[in-house]
Amino acid sequence: MQSIQDLVERALVHINEAISLTTLDQARVQYLGKSGELTGQLKLLGGLPPEERKPFGQAVNAAKSRIEEAIEQRRATLEKTARPAGPDLDVTLPGRRRWAGRVHPITATAEIMKKILMGLGFSYDDYPDIESEYYNFDALNTPAWHPARDLHDTFYVGQGQLLRTHTTAFQGRVMRASEGRTPIRAMTTGRCYRADDIDASHYPIFQQLDVFAVGGKLSMADLRWTLTELAKGLFGPEAQLRFRPSYFPFTTPSAEVDVSCMVCRQNGCALCSRTGWLEVLGSGMMRPEVLKAGGLDPAKHQGFAFGIGVDRITMLRHQINDIRLLYDNEEAFLRQF
Ligand SMILES: [Zn+2]
Repeated sequence: MQSIQDLVERALVHINEAISLTTLDQARVQYLGKSGELTGQLKLLGGLPPEERKPFGQAVNAAKSRIEEAIEQRRATLEKTARPAGPDLDVTLPGRRRWAGRVHPITATAEIMKKILMGLGFSYDDYPDIESEYYNFDALNTPAWHPARDLHDTFYVGQGQLLRTHTTAFQGRVMRASEGRTPIRAMTTGRCYRADDIDASHYPIFQQLDVFAVGGKLSMADLRWTLTELAKGLFGPEAQLRFRPSYFPFTTPSAEVDVSCMVCRQNGCALCSRTGWLEVLGSGMMRPEVLKAGGLDPAKHQGFAFGIGVDRITMLRHQINDIRLLYDNEEAFLRQF
């Protein structure tokens, strides 16, 4: 009887020290298996005097129950903490590599442009993605009847609020904040949103960089010089610009600006559709209405403004042919930059 008591105590310690289901099962076999220690005790039963057989048998059965109970408890604990499946921890496996983060190509392109423009005296600030109709449209000479305000083109988020359709919305905010003080040389960049189809060159989210300057006698010549410096910084010293007349509600005169194709050096290639020129931005002299909305007197101030699609410039710099790649954020794609 004493030996059964010892055996149970040993078994319980052994079971509670089992660190995995495998070692727990080894303990079960050691005590309750066909040739286990407790099973061995039962074999002694036949050699006992008849009056001792019954209490001995009861003691062995009680011991068996206690050991089984302990095994079940331990198993439940181990299953709760165990890893789902597979073999035990393999310490010989190589460690997991830590990936270094990197700057998204759109951000990198915007940073280069910001640096060039800071060198020309422009200061940078961020402005809200959720903008008021006033700054997004009214202050930019885009009245209520203008098609850009159509529900189908614009993501309205509430009473008079929308996801900005262009970063140009910052002009009114900057001028109001300056309270009539000039000169102003300001820029911002960020995401803009327009309800649009998704294909290789369209996406409902895109990034713009917007720049404007207000002073006493700024002219198209200042605009052209600023853009030429920016193009040379971005695409190299041979970069040339071409201005084409255009229309924007917030500038007059307005010009679309093309840059000479840096891939074919104007000999014609697929990127520039064999024209030697790439469309990169819209620009112009700020309209009097826009200056007035910013609290400035158009008789005393003139300003120029331009806006660039950062996605487009990023695609040109890296010769990426599908805008969706920039927003899918596939690791395998982004790791190349
Ligand atoms: Zn070309």
